[in-house]
Amino acid sequence: MNHHLTNADLHSHSTVSDGTLAPSALAQRAFDGGVELWALTDHDEVGGQHEAREAALALGMDYLSGCEISVSFAGQTVHIVGLGFDIDDQALRTGLAATRGGREARARLMAEGLAQVGLPGAFEGALKYVGNPELISRTHFGRWLVECGVCADAHEVFRRYLTEGKPGYVPHRWARLGDAVRWITQAGGVAVIAHPARYRFTPTEEFALFSEFTTHGGRGVEVMTGSHSAPERITYADMALEFDLLASRGSDFHAPGESRTELGELPDLPGRLTPVWTALQDRIHRAR
Ligand code: AMP
Ligand code: MN
Ligand code: MN
Ligand code: MN
Repeated sequence: MNHHLTNADLHSHSTVSDGTLAPSALAQRAFDGGVELWALTDHDEVGGQHEAREAALALGMDYLSGCEISVSFAGQTVHIVGLGFDIDDQALRTGLAATRGGREARARLMAEGLAQVGLPGAFEGALKYVGNPELISRTHFGRWLVECGVCADAHEVFRRYLTEGKPGYVPHRWARLGDAVRWITQAGGVAVIAHPARYRFTPTEEFALFSEFTTHGGRGVEVMTGSHSAPERITYADMALEFDLLASRGSDFHAPGESRTELGELPDLPGRLTPVWTALQDRIHRAR
């Protein structure tokens, strides 16, 4: 079997975090997009995993458990995707709950910042878009600000209001890198650095991220992601080889009409890389 040719999409979001489709509707969309091996990777949460897996298997699509953990590293937020772990693992669940814990207080402070620049009611506004009360994210504020006509699209919202130094931005302490990697790994899964090109690290900081990640037991990096340009895909294919990491592929799909990359439509991984699912064969829930 040539694993490179599997249409795997191992990064996507449902209403359980900041996507707009329920896990089963997302499964249908992945299947319609030609996905053969799928993972739902909601932010800091595994509450959608049962529904996602059952829907995938019913459609005839193989499934890997997933999540995307928010981590603070060198003054920035880094996302670590976990794949193929036991969703009932208690330490993982406790760690994710702790990571989610500060989101409501953060959201209230974000709303205060927006009120100060003449945008009152943002907390209640964002809540209208929230599917999971434990998971209020910047994305939900973004959807509300677009609805109000304050900005034309999510990109503009983030640039003007929701990124560092802007009125709706509140610095937040997420999980530690080593903790996130250990929660995933000790639950039988593989930890993957999500969309590495999105971070604004110096070369030294990036080297530190990759080295500390592998020291803690992290084994993978996203190469084919909706967040990477074509040159960035080559850069991180090289990084995967340099750090001896498995390569992952995922759209990071959030919402129809909002996400630029559709489920299942990314190019295949370059042949010189080892797909992360090669190392997760015994963790895959098989449809047949
Ligand atoms: P949070 O976890 O609350 O900080 O929200 C992070 C989420 O915001 C990410 O997972 C993306 O879905 C979304 N996001 C971050 N930056 C942007 C951007 N520039 N444009 C649109 N969405 C973004
Ligand atoms: Mn998101
Ligand atoms: Mn992310
Ligand atoms: Mn994501």
